[in-house]
Amino acid sequence: MVTQPAPEQDVSVLEAIHQALGRRELLPAEHLVDSGYVTPAAILRATTAYGVTVLGPVRLVSPRQHRPGFDKKDFHIDWDRRTATCPRGVTSPPWKTTCLDGQTSHSVLSPRAACRECADRRSCTGNADGRGRHLILMPRPLQEIQNRARLEQKTRDWRARYAMRAGCEATVSETVHAHGLRQCRYRGLARVHMQYILTAAGANVVRLSGCFPPGTAPPRPARPLTTFQRLCQNSTAKRGS
Ligand code: SF4
Repeated sequence: MVTQPAPEQDVSVLEAIHQALGRRELLPAEHLVDSGYVTPAAILRATTAYGVTVLGPVRLVSPRQHRPGFDKKDFHIDWDRRTATCPRGVTSPPWKTTCLDGQTSHSVLSPRAACRECADRRSCTGNADGRGRHLILMPRPLQEIQNRARLEQKTRDWRARYAMRAGCEATVSETVHAHGLRQCRYRGLARVHMQYILTAAGANVVRLSGCFPPGTAPPRPARPLTTFQRLCQNSTAKRGS
């Protein structure tokens, strides 16, 4: 179970887990992870280096890049000519390769003149100052993984596979909020690691103590009345007196 990484640690944390599992010959065919770990680079690395399919929701289009009109997937990408053709049939000049947040990216700019004439200009470009539509593409293998993953994660089959992970976040939340897992009580990694193991074991004991054979569960105490229920009772009592 994996949860809540810092974004820049995406690949390295998964990598460390896969290395450790590989050393013990315990690598899974499929690894279900929190959405914070699922980047196209992480998926590619896990597949090529460890033969593991990483399954988790890839990030959707960021609000900064979201356009109400056409999405990146609506453009036809010609990887050989390095151009993108929009749904209105306008082809960009060859894109420039650049470095964005430390990652290689392709900056695609549709011709300004064509976009100015286009009826979909406002919703497609997202700007009012006459600039053409700007797209950022990842290198081809990563872009194709992202496109495919975004489509797959909408399907019922994908959701059924990912449902296996249901309960993981709740378990983490329980250990954090009910058992104080976010506070280290000791110094040193070895002791902190031991704290984690003991906390997990304690959480299991607490859960087991709530399990009873069928028909032997003790009666639950009645729920206290809500404020609204008390109000209703008081009004009824006043009317009756
Ligand atoms: S605004 Fe430009 S890129 Fe967008 S659909 Fe129109 S011509 Fe194509």
